[in-house]
Amino acid sequence: MTVSTVPKVRIALIAHDMKKDDILAVASDYVDVLRQCQLVATGTTGGRIATELGLDVERMLSGPHGGDLQIGAQLAEGRVDMVLFLRDPMTPQPHEPDINALVRACDVHNVPCATNSATARMLLEQLIARLAAQPAA
Ligand code: PGA
Repeated sequence: MTVSTVPKVRIALIAHDMKKDDILAVASDYVDVLRQCQLVATGTTGGRIATELGLDVERMLSGPHGGDLQIGAQLAEGRVDMVLFLRDPMTPQPHEPDINALVRACDVHNVPCATNSATARMLLEQLIARLAAQPAA
């Protein structure tokens, strides 16, 4: 038996309340590729993705309780390869500084970060192409 030594792509998923249906729609459309990845999410987002799509998701605290910061800390340590962060631009968030810190960490560490579902879909398409180009393990 051959065991793959290629580390799984680790994707962080976060969605504000008004964007949770959107992230569920994206994750549902890309469930096959997401199943091949390690997923980490803020609490409520991760709960819905796990329950409604049956994906294995490591859940952090809820965003307003520090979940964005937990994901940001993992990213700063090189443990997150892609962030899908569907922000709600129309509603003030109590944890705005945490949101900005996570997006800033993506820029500091040059980690792809989608903040709307159109970009999230483009990143996932790119990931599918990249995985398809990888030699079979
Ligand atoms: P949630 O957090 O997934 O726990 O709702 C998201 C956020 O508000 O940052």
